[in-house]
Amino acid sequence: AETWQDVPLAPPDSIFKLTAAYKADPYPQKVNLGVGAYRDDDNNPWVLPVIKKATQILLNDPTLDHEYLPITGLPEFTAAAARLILSPTSPALAEGRVVSVQTISGTGANHLGALFLSKFYNWDGPKQVYLSDPTWANHHAIFRNVGIEPLNYPYYDPKTIGLDFNGFIGTLESAAPRSVFLLHACAHNPTGVDPTGEEWEKIAEIMLSKKHYAFFDCAYQGFASGDLDKDSSAVRYFVEKGVPMLVCQSFAKNAGLYGERVGALHVVPPTKDAADRVKSQLSVIQRSEISNPPSHGARLVALILNDAGLFEEWKRDIKTMAGRIIDMRQELYSVLSDELKTPGSWEHIINQIGMFSFTGISAEQSRELTEKAHIYLTTNGRISMAGLNSHNLRYFAENLDKVVR
Ligand code: PMP
Repeated sequence: AETWQDVPLAPPDSIFKLTAAYKADPYPQKVNLGVGAYRDDDNNPWVLPVIKKATQILLNDPTLDHEYLPITGLPEFTAAAARLILSPTSPALAEGRVVSVQTISGTGANHLGALFLSKFYNWDGPKQVYLSDPTWANHHAIFRNVGIEPLNYPYYDPKTIGLDFNGFIGTLESAAPRSVFLLHACAHNPTGVDPTGEEWEKIAEIMLSKKHYAFFDCAYQGFASGDLDKDSSAVRYFVEKGVPMLVCQSFAKNAGLYGERVGALHVVPPTKDAADRVKSQLSVIQRSEISNPPSHGARLVALILNDAGLFEEWKRDIKTMAGRIIDMRQELYSVLSDELKTPGSWEHIINQIGMFSFTGISAEQSRELTEKAHIYLTTNGRISMAGLNSHNLRYFAENLDKVVR
């Protein structure tokens, strides 16, 4: 028998399949709303000006070489990344109880965090993680890969196109004590629906009283509001309240470093002693997985985070990206509501936040947009706001109007 005869053929990744179909389409007015990457107003990838500047600085640095980084990554990067997400004045940082490890972007942080929990979390029962319904599809695969079974908690309510807060709270309360909950720190993917500040406070209160573990995934710091501090407020609040937690951090979107794979995992144990033990085990795991993380992207981000001038420039670049996305939300909303008088309410488009919007249209309507108008989106009705620009917004709005009428 042939060696691989029992290997089943897997379907292609749906997002990458969508991109391939878009690329192959010769129609001039085609629109790609599937992609989870920022595009400028001419639909081109955007290299942040501050990244160009930092790249030049690295190129002119004669002291740099290609030696291995330490197992847990570039120290100037991990320390600055921790301050960025937890705040420079975080008491947990001052107390030396934050463990930071450089990872292969946000995906790698999720994987390392999940693998660490699988091996070392004090599981009372079966290894399970609660994921928001819906969530980034990769979360399911990442946890399954390390033997943790994904369960859903209610999150999105199709009736309101908003948060199912009562459902969410209900599951937090009914779950066994010390359950693990994955939380999107901001700019929830795929819905664009985030809890309010007050809702986060309630979530933290229940998690604390039930001793649940918060597994934060933060892939869009700065992308939600345009403000790095605002977008990390939930994470910071949980640290302040002492909810047991870790946070996965990605610089793919906010620094436009998608392919460079820059990220970090930060675990926040209650004591420095626990942190030292956790760090020792994360080092052992990292060694067997990747030995040591890549240097180039981490050097770029470390330069920017550790230089006041470059840091200000980065914040301006983030505002440029978040601002354009927020403008597209406003404009799409006003074309649908005020001009075309498209049936239904479209307020969720301006209330939702971050890269994505859940339009609320059906799978059939999504397919119709693709088939009739060459507008590519996932069949859950999610659109990437970054795929809209001043040249294609009206075309999209008019065709959306047609399919919902
Ligand atoms: N988590 C979420 C919720 C995401 O949307 C993404 C990016 N699509 C990631 C993690 C990880 O992305 P990356 O590995 O490119 O940092």
